[in-house]
Amino acid sequence: MADPSECNIKVMCRFRPFNVSEVARGDKCIPKFQGEDTVLVGSKPYVFDRVFGQNTTQEQVYNACARQIVKDVLEGYNGTIFAYGQTASGKTHTMEGNLHDLEIMGIIPRIVQDIFTYIYSMNENLEFHIKISYFEIYLDKIRDLLDVSKTNLSVHEDKNRVPYVKVSCTTSRLCGSSSFFFLVYYNCTIIQFVSKTGAEGSVLDEAKNINKSLSSLGNVISALAEGTSHVPYRDSKMTRILQDSLGGNCRTTIVICCSPSSYNESESKSTLLFGQRAK
Ligand code: ADP
Repeated sequence: MADPSECNIKVMCRFRPFNVSEVARGDKCIPKFQGEDTVLVGSKPYVFDRVFGQNTTQEQVYNACARQIVKDVLEGYNGTIFAYGQTASGKTHTMEGNLHDLEIMGIIPRIVQDIFTYIYSMNENLEFHIKISYFEIYLDKIRDLLDVSKTNLSVHEDKNRVPYVKVSCTTSRLCGSSSFFFLVYYNCTIIQFVSKTGAEGSVLDEAKNINKSLSSLGNVISALAEGTSHVPYRDSKMTRILQDSLGGNCRTTIVICCSPSSYNESESKSTLLFGQRAK
């Protein structure tokens, strides 16, 4: 078994299929896939733990990105999976997909399904407590998505100095067996870039703020990947909250999402570089 104190970060890269407007404009396809782990954009190779082309199914993405993390979480590790990429690059499709279609279901509903399958497969008579909280960090402000009247929540620290946010939880108890586990979904789907049409005023402030928390996230992830002793968690709310999930006994998968079109080449390159920093 792996060392429980070791932090394990995997970076996967997914290119979605062309959309209607990319086809209508006659955009060129920029990624060239080499084997299972390399994608060439221009002449530059980007290497990840896995690369997924446009024909990859939701099930294949789940199996490669999340299945093992669910098993590890059930054994007591902290697990984090997040998607990163420009607007309309496929983050929501990857994380949520279509909840009502078994084939197009994304990572989150598949995780829930796997956890319940595991619990129901237990034949000893133990009780599981499952807690799910769901919140958004936007412009460095935290909003409870299970009670949207709660906005601008603060980050607290427990007696072991582990940061946490007081948010609502949906709780359910089930009979099953084995150990207690606790699961939190952090909603980090706010990740976007400045729009192509140019940004002014509050849009520009928003973009700067997003870029600030993204660069803090990038700095934390690359410090962890390099094994440096100082990890700058305190630079943004997002990294403070993710501290316990990214450091310590963690299993983290980052899914880098990109458009295949030449129209989005510079945003895709910047996304790919973010992913490379984490490797
Ligand atoms: P984001 O959350 O990054 O803004 P979305 O997940 O909403 O982007 O994707 C934008 C559009 O592209 C959606 O209509 C989505 O259904 C479609 N899409 C994204 N990824 C895929 C994919 N792998 N296969 C098919 N359609 C996809």
